[in-house]
Amino acid sequence: MRQEKYDVVVIGAGVGGLCSGALLAHKGYKTLVVEKLPAVGGRCSTIDYKGYKVPVGAVGVPSSGPFREVFEEVGAEFNVKQHPEGKYLVDGTEIPLPEKGQFNAILSHCCKNEDEFNRIRKAMRRADTWEKPSNEITLRDWLLQYTDNENVLALFQNVCSAFIIANAHEASAQEFFDIRTGMMRSYGAACFPLGGSIALMESLVSVIKVRGSDVWTGSPATKILVTDEKVRGVVVNSPKGDVEITADAVISNAGPKRTVELAGRENFDKGFLCEVDRMKPAFQMWITTVSDRPLYDWPVVTTLKTRRMINMMIPSMVIPGLAPPNKHIHYSISGPADQTGHWNMKEEVDLHIQDLKDNIPLFSEHGEVLHVGCYWGDWPTITNTPFAGYQPMKQKTPIENLYQVGEAVGPRGWLGGTPGCALTAKMVVEEVDKRITRQRMTG
Ligand SMILES: Cc1cc2nc3c(=O)[nH]c(=O)nc-3n(C[C@H](O)[C@H](O)[C@H](O)COP(=O)(O)OP(=O)(O)OC[C@H]3O[C@@H](n4cnc5c(N)ncnc54)[C@H](O)[C@@H]3O)c2cc1C
Repeated sequence: MRQEKYDVVVIGAGVGGLCSGALLAHKGYKTLVVEKLPAVGGRCSTIDYKGYKVPVGAVGVPSSGPFREVFEEVGAEFNVKQHPEGKYLVDGTEIPLPEKGQFNAILSHCCKNEDEFNRIRKAMRRADTWEKPSNEITLRDWLLQYTDNENVLALFQNVCSAFIIANAHEASAQEFFDIRTGMMRSYGAACFPLGGSIALMESLVSVIKVRGSDVWTGSPATKILVTDEKVRGVVVNSPKGDVEITADAVISNAGPKRTVELAGRENFDKGFLCEVDRMKPAFQMWITTVSDRPLYDWPVVTTLKTRRMINMMIPSMVIPGLAPPNKHIHYSISGPADQTGHWNMKEEVDLHIQDLKDNIPLFSEHGEVLHVGCYWGDWPTITNTPFAGYQPMKQKTPIENLYQVGEAVGPRGWLGGTPGCALTAKMVVEEVDKRITRQRMTG
C-alpha cells in the first residue's frame, strides 16, 4: 500500500472538518482533509439542479461568532448577504411588527395582557442571567409554570423546533436557554451565502490548498489506525488506490458512530460507547418550491399555529443568482409532532403541503415542488438531539490524539449549526496545536 505522512489528517470535509483543516494549514501544519463524497461541505453544501441551487443542509449563516471568525483568521473569502428579520404569520394572518426586537413584539402580541407578558419576560430574564432551568424538564413544562396560553406555547414551540429541532414538549429547557445565551447571542445578522453554502466551503478549501496542505474528495477513510491506545493514522481509499497515511493527530468530522466504526469498538471504553449509542438524531423536512414569482412579499416568514410548517425562506429575493433569471426558489421547513415516534412520511409531506396552501396563498396557483428533503438518520439536521436529560459529547476520544469535530460534539448552547461546528474546530485545533508542539519539544 502507498504510504504518506502528514502532521494531521481530518476525516470529512463538513463545516467542522474544513474549519479544522483551514485553521491547521494556516498555523503551518501539513494537513490532509479526506472526503468520501465527490463534493465538499457535507451538510453545508449545495447541488445545482435544473438551474437552481438546492441546499443539502445549511442555508443561512451568521454574520459574526465562531464561524465568521474562522474565515477571518485564515483569510478566507466570506461572501454573504444579510437578510431582514422574518415576518410572522399566526393562523395564516400576518402580524404587523417593528423591524427590530421582533421576539418581544410577537410575544406581546401572543400574550393576553401585560401581566402575562411581564411574567414570562421576567422568567426568561432570570433564566438568561441568573440560573438556567433544569436539564431534566422540557421547555413546555418550564413554560407551563408561567402560562397555558396556546398562542404563547405555539411561539415557543416554533422557536424551539427551528433552533433545537426537537419539539418544546421534548427539548431540554436548559438547552433552550443555553442556546439563547450561547449560539444565538453570538449570531449577529442572519445571512445567505452568495452561490449557496458550498461557495463558503470551497473558500476554505482554497485556503487549505494555498498553504500547501490538501483536500481529497471521493476518498473515504476506511480505517483509523490505532496502536497502544494511540492514533497512528488512517487508511484512505483514494481514486488512485488505498493509501496509508501516518499522522501525529487525526480529527474525525465523520460523526461519533462512524468514528467508532472506523477505529473499532474494541478501542473505546464502555462509557464513551454508551454516550455514542445514546445519541438520537431528529427529523426535519425541507420542501423546495420554485416559481416564476416570489410566493410571499418578504424573504423570511415564520408560521405559528400550523400543523407542521415552521417557516419559509425565499433566498432568491436576496440573492437572485440562486435561481435562473426571473425565477425564485423557496425552502419551507417542518418537523413531526413527536420526534421519538414513528412517522408516516407521506402524511408528513401532505401536512406540510397543506400548511403551505393555508399560509402562502400564492403556493397553490404558482408553486411547483422541486424537491422534498427528509433529513434524519445519517444526514440529520441534528445528531445528538437535546431532549430533556441529554448530555453533550466531548471532542476528545479515549484514543490519544484522536479528536472529533462537528455538529454532534458541540458543547452545551452550541449544538448544531455552522457556529457550533466552527467552535468545535477552534477548540480542537487549539488543543492539537498545544499537544503537537509539546510532543515535538519533548522529542
Ligand atoms: C436540512 C438542513 C438544514 C440546515 N440548515 C442550517 C442553517 O440554515 N444554518 C446552519 O447554521 N445550520 C444548518 N443546518 C445544520 C448544519 O448544516 C450542520 O450542523 C453542519 O453542516 C454539520 O457539519 P459537520 O461539521 O457536523 O459535518 P457534516 O456536514 O456532518 O459533514 C461530515 C462529512 O464527513 C464525510 N464523511 C463521513 N464519513 C467519512 C469517511 N469515512 N471518510 C471521509 N469522509 C467521510 C461526509 O460525507 C460529510 O461530508 C442544517 C442541517 C440540515 C441537514
